[in-house]
Amino acid sequence: MNDCLFCRIVAKEIPATVVYEDDAILAFKDITPQAPVHLLLIPKAHCSGLCDLPESLVPVVGRLHQVAAKLAEEAGVAERGWRLLTNCGPDSGQSVFHLHFHLLGGKPLGGRLCQ
Ligand code: AMP
Ligand code: ZN
Repeated sequence: MNDCLFCRIVAKEIPATVVYEDDAILAFKDITPQAPVHLLLIPKAHCSGLCDLPESLVPVVGRLHQVAAKLAEEAGVAERGWRLLTNCGPDSGQSVFHLHFHLLGGKPLGGRLCQ
């Protein structure tokens, strides 16, 4: 999708600090980090969010969770802990409509999942 920011990052039309890439998954640093470690993990194939997940991407999203654990280890936050989350739809505040998971860590993240 030409007008999708993250598709354009996948296509290398927009620069990003990539920390992991394979045939189906890309991970890069969030441009506005909310924590010392703030990565975004995405399937390369476009899908707007979890509410729109096609069957074909179910195994990719499963593997993406394994990649998140590996990246947390590499970022040095595995022992202290980290969080993986995705926003879906207006109430969540989702701003980029290409499925992505935020990997956050490197500081105490707080116990509240919403305010
Ligand atoms: P969300 O609000 O869950 O849709 O998250 C979108 C995330 O994408 C935000 O944390 C943004 O900081 C991040 N973001 C937006 N543009 C870029 C970009 N060009 N490179 C990296 N991260 C970005
Ligand atoms: Zn996209």
